[in-house]
Amino acid sequence: MEPRSAAAAGRDFPYTSRTTCYIELHTDGRVTHGADRTTYERAVAGESKLYAVWPGQWSSHLFVIDDLNEYAKAHGIKHDVQRTGLAEHAHQVRWTESGGERNPRSPYISIEVSLECGCEIQDIDVFATQMRDQKGWAVATSVGWGSSSGPGGVTYSLRVRRKSLTA
Ligand SMILES: [Zn+2]
Repeated sequence: MEPRSAAAAGRDFPYTSRTTCYIELHTDGRVTHGADRTTYERAVAGESKLYAVWPGQWSSHLFVIDDLNEYAKAHGIKHDVQRTGLAEHAHQVRWTESGGERNPRSPYISIEVSLECGCEIQDIDVFATQMRDQKGWAVATSVGWGSSSGPGGVTYSLRVRRKSLTA
């Protein structure tokens, strides 16, 4: 079976779908499953070739991962502005306390955030990492966050560790 090209599918290829199964063919003939950052590094270095099985309803298709850049962006190994909505710059963040905090002793506080730089938060994990690096914020990523649109633009509701909110 001749593998198809994942690159030909572009951004539509289900790189991060739970049902996409990665197969790594090493130059020494070993075959391993799964994919992570080291897989990407080996594939880029030419030490292995990466394939993916995309299961269909009636048959599965074998793809060669021939666009490693797209693969890396999908898996967050490389930053992707389109997928995350977030540029790689120092965001212009405006924030206020949400008020109505029920538990004043909670280590986390709810805040309303708007991004005046024009970015949109589509990936809370990436935004949390950027805020940690830029402002020292510890943004909670495991609890609910949300966004709402208003006349002033989009406002995000986030939980941030109180002690980290200094700027
Ligand atoms: Zn920004």
